[in-house]
Amino acid sequence: MRDIIIRNGTIVDGTGMLAFRGDVGIDGGRLVRVGGKLAGEARREIDATGRVVAPGFIDPHTHFDAQLLFDAQAKPALEHGVTTVVHGNCSLSLAPLRAGDRGKLVRMFQQIEEMPDAAFDGAFEWTWEGFGEYVDALRGRVALNVAPLAGHSPLRLWAMGEDAAMRAATADEIATMQNLLRECLEAGAVGLSTSFVDMDENLAPVPCRHAHHAELDALSAVLGEYGRMLQVVPEFYNTDVTIARVDQLALLSLAHGIPTTFSPLFDSAAVPDNVPRVLDRVAEHFARGARVWPQVQTRPIDISFSFEVASLYFIQLPMWYLILRMPRDQRVGLLANEGTRKGLVDAAEPGGDTSRFAGLRVRDSRDPKRVGKTLGEIAEERGTTPAAAMIDLSLEEDLGIHFLAERMGHEDPSRIGPVLANDLVHIGASDGGAHIQSFATYGDTGYLFSEFVRKGRYLSLEQAVRKITRDTAQIWGLPDRGELRPGMAADVVVFDADAIARGDEVPAHDMPGEGMRYVRGSSGVECVIVNGEVCWSGKDGYTDARPGIVIHA
Ligand SMILES: [Zn+2]
Repeated sequence: MRDIIIRNGTIVDGTGMLAFRGDVGIDGGRLVRVGGKLAGEARREIDATGRVVAPGFIDPHTHFDAQLLFDAQAKPALEHGVTTVVHGNCSLSLAPLRAGDRGKLVRMFQQIEEMPDAAFDGAFEWTWEGFGEYVDALRGRVALNVAPLAGHSPLRLWAMGEDAAMRAATADEIATMQNLLRECLEAGAVGLSTSFVDMDENLAPVPCRHAHHAELDALSAVLGEYGRMLQVVPEFYNTDVTIARVDQLALLSLAHGIPTTFSPLFDSAAVPDNVPRVLDRVAEHFARGARVWPQVQTRPIDISFSFEVASLYFIQLPMWYLILRMPRDQRVGLLANEGTRKGLVDAAEPGGDTSRFAGLRVRDSRDPKRVGKTLGEIAEERGTTPAAAMIDLSLEEDLGIHFLAERMGHEDPSRIGPVLANDLVHIGASDGGAHIQSFATYGDTGYLFSEFVRKGRYLSLEQAVRKITRDTAQIWGLPDRGELRPGMAADVVVFDADAIARGDEVPAHDMPGEGMRYVRGSSGVECVIVNGEVCWSGKDGYTDARPGIVIHA
């Protein structure tokens, strides 16, 4: 008797080959048959008539580092069909890290990835310092597969202490970091992450930004010993600088024989030639044999926020940002102060130009009549300006009113579709598990199918599946994943090609300490299997199975 037989499905095997009808047999965590009619019985039979059977989706850019330690299923990523996540991106990982440096790293996570205190504060037990001990803390306890990156900033903290955030490393310190990175890779790290843009809680550059090229080159040499990935966050708001980073990554890729990836690459109507210019340069480097994978996300940038937390939405308005970061009583006091309020309004609406906030919508309010209205409309009703209205409404509703800034970029499907279909573009950059109080990062895969396969027809079903399964596994060197083929690990998702989509974004209070975050459910996904065990189904929800592995451990 087999463990699982999925019968009569439309098999999209991840290679890009045309779909075909047949059964899929699973035994001992592996695929044993793909296609044909399977005789005999199974402990669990899944009828997939009229449904697609595909490899589990792989999300290469997440920050589930803390969440995985208190939520083994990385909810709700799993229910969207994601069976493997890469975490530790953007220079930040929870190991290697000395106990004394935990506070520093947590504050960086909070600043860069907008994670609440409660996600770190007692939600899990820190039992490790080294990367191997960290991997042990994950092993056997996660529902989906994890591929952790080692972060460059913690490597620096370990090797340089306080100086990590102040200066270039000495030759000795670089050698220490090389040895540390080697230990991480031996223990199961899938590569190294670094950043050229991120700032700590004091808005000073994070430690890895003080590295000179020689340091990155020395660390890349260690990656080359293992053929592992270098992930970077480039200066994505500046095309020329991004192109210079692409050149630098190509240099490292060729010198050390490593794959590199940069994320995000955003499309913007304001800079229409950004993506085409970067992709042209990427193509030149691939033609020379380098690997420089741009990661492009599927969803447009929509930011939700309230005055309960200091949203990154205000980072361009320092006065707003600084006040919103203050303790609640102080924040409310300043917002209610006539002089401060005027200063804030003047900063946001210079010379009476009220365009900045006029298009923002109220997304949640205790007054249902407000929901859906723009701040421009509300300001007109009240005889005030949008910025003033936003402050007044927040105070009236005890900071409980939420606003939505829609389509802040990356929003035109007719521009994004052809980019996602480009063979040199790596679909990713969901940022899963980060920015949880600004937007729901889950469901980018569903959105790929609903918007770019069904609606826009920019990719075929087979091509879209390949891009988030086999391509991702090959780009990252994840063995046994991304394809439905006998002998491969049984990571499988069963879904309805006519219905798969991301659900609506809703606030939820399911973080530790009842912390708020935005989430999305999935639609059209029916069953998610990790290493041969059903971890989620549309009918029964999450199961107790914890079959996930640390891929390289
Ligand atoms: Zn990130």
